[in-house]
Amino acid sequence: MPNLYNPYDNVLKVVDHAASLLGYPEKDYAFLKYPERELKVSMPVVMDDGSIRIFEGFRIQHSTVRGPAKGGVRFHPGVNHDEVKALAAWMTFKCAVVNIPYGGGKGGIICDPNELSEREKHSLTSKYIAQIAPLIGPEQDVPAPDVGTNARVMAWMMDAYSMLKGHSVLSCVTGKPIGLGGILGRSEATGRGVMFTVNNLLAKQGLDRTQASVAIQGMGNVGSVTAKLVHEEGMCVVAVSDVSGGIYDPAGLDIPAILAYLRENPKNLLKDFTAPNIQHISNAELLELDVTVLIPAALENQINADNAARIRAKYIVEAANGPTTLEADDILHERGIMLVPDILANAGGVVVSYFEWVQNIQELCWTEERVNGELKTIMDTAFEAVWSIAHEKNTTLRTGAYLIAVKRVTEAKLGRGIF
Ligand code: NAD
Repeated sequence: MPNLYNPYDNVLKVVDHAASLLGYPEKDYAFLKYPERELKVSMPVVMDDGSIRIFEGFRIQHSTVRGPAKGGVRFHPGVNHDEVKALAAWMTFKCAVVNIPYGGGKGGIICDPNELSEREKHSLTSKYIAQIAPLIGPEQDVPAPDVGTNARVMAWMMDAYSMLKGHSVLSCVTGKPIGLGGILGRSEATGRGVMFTVNNLLAKQGLDRTQASVAIQGMGNVGSVTAKLVHEEGMCVVAVSDVSGGIYDPAGLDIPAILAYLRENPKNLLKDFTAPNIQHISNAELLELDVTVLIPAALENQINADNAARIRAKYIVEAANGPTTLEADDILHERGIMLVPDILANAGGVVVSYFEWVQNIQELCWTEERVNGELKTIMDTAFEAVWSIAHEKNTTLRTGAYLIAVKRVTEAKLGRGIF
């Protein structure tokens, strides 16, 4: 059956709902439904076997109303125009909900990074930056890592942009290695923000962290750090997964051992991980486990109309972008399952990216302690604001987050006026 799910439709519906609750006439917020700029690019790459392959990609700026567009670049075979549009829009609302002076953008290349050699990936990355160079820059649009990209890829992006400009421009991308203008704590920032969010949620519900069980889908940058940190906070991580499937131990997994296994070789997959008492389960089974907190940290559309009625977690914290469809949202809400939305829960990455950009522009360097402390302040403040408005207006936390974000972006636009 063809996959008819379009994440951008989700964006439009949520924005309409928030705007109607805010009492905005369509003319005041219609701009939010249209990305400001969209660029489709193609990149020929000489492959290691001498053949030439053409890759396609995108960079989309959803909004620059509150500041430069900000958002990651995804390397994944499933990248497509509507997905990048939705991811760009989510960045606009994410930056607004945590109140950092950015708009939203996103990029992607249709490729499987695991099938490319380092040289091929480097060449593809440099060409992509050359193609999107007219759109990006420290004051226009600042890319960052996302699924399939990491600090190494960001270093290549910074190098390619700098070569085009004729001088080093550290502030043109974030998520760079520490020795190249990167910030201490960035690689852990998204997962750390998720951990703060889980702590805030459990505290609001009067639950003891050490009694909480957690299942995490996805053990990449976000999922693995989340697993490490919630484990360190005393929670019992009973299941984790990656693209190959999941592992489950109701008594709690040995998270440090799993992280060491995944670190050993980036190609290591959980399907090959062995330890006493663990059961191998599918991603679908992981999502339906009876746990306190379910943390989807992989891709979009994981909790949908097909499985929402079978979700047994008491709470869902969206570490991934768009893991839950709106149909599923309604089903979960009716079933009393509380969900903390992506634009709040996974904002830690963009917050620390913002710190990195500020540092690069000011040519200074914060300690990791300061980075983590400032991140906590911003995440706690945003959580409190979303929690309060959702309770005041008797809405879900997702609607609460969008009430704050849509209001901030719309007021900024109305304040600027129509050019
Ligand atoms: P990553 O590439 O480092 O990891 C992705 C993980 O998901 C891997 O473990 C992979 O095996 C797994 N995965 C891939 N396809 C899957 C599938 N079909 N089923 C189950 N698991 C699958 O990516 P990441 O940076 O950790 O990003 C994960 C999510 O978090 C994405 O939605 C991303 O947009 C979002 N996010 C990332 C950041 C960041 O700072 N990296 C910030 C905010 C949000």
